[in-house]
Amino acid sequence: MKALCVQSPHNIVIEERPMPDIQLPTDVLIKVKAGGICGSDVHIYHGTSSVATYPRVIGHEIVGEIVETGKEVSGFSVGDRVIMDPVISCGTCYQCRIGRRNVCGKLQVRSVHVDGGYQEYIVVPQQSIYHIPDNLSWEEAVMIEPFTIAEQVCSRAALVKEDIVFIMGAGPVGLSILKRVKLTGAICYISDIVETRLDFARQYGADVAINAKEVDVKEEIMRLTEGNGATIVIDAVCSTRSFEQTLTYVCSAGRVITLGFSKEASAINQLSITAREIDVRGSRLHNNKFPTVIEYFRSGKLAVKDMITHRYQFTEIHEALKLIEDPAIEKGKVVLFF
Ligand code: MN
Repeated sequence: MKALCVQSPHNIVIEERPMPDIQLPTDVLIKVKAGGICGSDVHIYHGTSSVATYPRVIGHEIVGEIVETGKEVSGFSVGDRVIMDPVISCGTCYQCRIGRRNVCGKLQVRSVHVDGGYQEYIVVPQQSIYHIPDNLSWEEAVMIEPFTIAEQVCSRAALVKEDIVFIMGAGPVGLSILKRVKLTGAICYISDIVETRLDFARQYGADVAINAKEVDVKEEIMRLTEGNGATIVIDAVCSTRSFEQTLTYVCSAGRVITLGFSKEASAINQLSITAREIDVRGSRLHNNKFPTVIEYFRSGKLAVKDMITHRYQFTEIHEALKLIEDPAIEKGKVVLFF
């Protein structure tokens, strides 16, 4: 079988590998059908991931069909359509015991620390798969994993309908968070410096899409919120500067959610957090969000067809990466078919 392996940064190779075998009685063998390309896959390819190790088969937005089940697998059968959970946790550390498995002390992520799903077949334990509803195509089902990220952000932000949310950055992550926020019915503002991304944001229901190149963002947020600030600010820009700015947009008793992995320091003073009792919370991966997101998709509450813009065979990975790296081409989710 074939696998897409990043052997070292900037060097992705279509490798011939032996078929993986079922190891544990609770394992399933999956014929991979489709996989989304995520920003983090591109970071690993570029060598700019602060956590990945090499060589690595990337791909964590993976859907496929079960072709073999271990002896003790229950609730899943050959032919079932499933999606893979990339998060692997130990189940015994403090974080796992309090139900925070996405920040497990021995956390491993498929495609980052262990091989992911850009391969024709993959073996995973049944605890790491979920059924895909019949009404979803393979490519729609690929979008479930990105929305577990958005679900985690909204859960960390304790989002309710009465919130006024400001998302900084209308890239793939910012836009999926926007769709999720609008599902709750909260007001949602979003900013970016690329007008075509702001057009996507308007299409997805943004109450105001702010071009940060043309407008003073702080003034605009204060004007929109009658001087109080946003109740939730989500930093999907993830620069040292954007993190500093979050505290100037958020209201007292508000929440700031960070998504970045930068190790560089930002200049933030204690007063801006203490005096106004701001909660600054990180959001990483997802904590058991697949069932919730799958239900949004099954019921049609979340529609994602309009987010998929490009499709390739997995053997065309180099063309797909070239497209992703071309700033002149506006794109949403790029999906590989296997
Ligand atoms: Mn992803």
